[in-house]
Amino acid sequence: MAQIGLVAHDDRKDDMAKWVKTHQDQLSQHDLFATGTTGSRIVSATGLSVTLLKSGPLGGDQQLGAMIAEGRLDVLIFLIDPLSAQPHDVDVKALTRLATLYDVLFACNKITADAVLNALKDNGGNGAHG
Ligand code: PGA
Repeated sequence: MAQIGLVAHDDRKDDMAKWVKTHQDQLSQHDLFATGTTGSRIVSATGLSVTLLKSGPLGGDQQLGAMIAEGRLDVLIFLIDPLSAQPHDVDVKALTRLATLYDVLFACNKITADAVLNALKDNGGNGAHG
């Protein structure tokens, strides 16, 4: 079982809800954490059990970053909107920086997110931290 963080910027939340629904069976075997608004969308779209953190701009991105720094997150799926400025850009940068620094499985678009889930399957469902 892996610990998976899920975040989507506003214009990507529909994509995230659809992506999670598509992979619902596999994702239900893992511990899911999400920033507040993204997580609420996922829960209402799928009924999956998700630990809801604060909304991203209110500290949720930093909560996920702290989990990464403490070795408590194996995977980050972060559907970033590349066409809009984010008011909490510093938090976005901090989160992507920590995901890179700590070498977690990290996807910013759906095709890579699919590849990450395939990698988890190949690894017997375990993330990098077992
Ligand atoms: P949200 O946060 O899920 O609470 O909207 C996402 C983000 O960091 O933009």
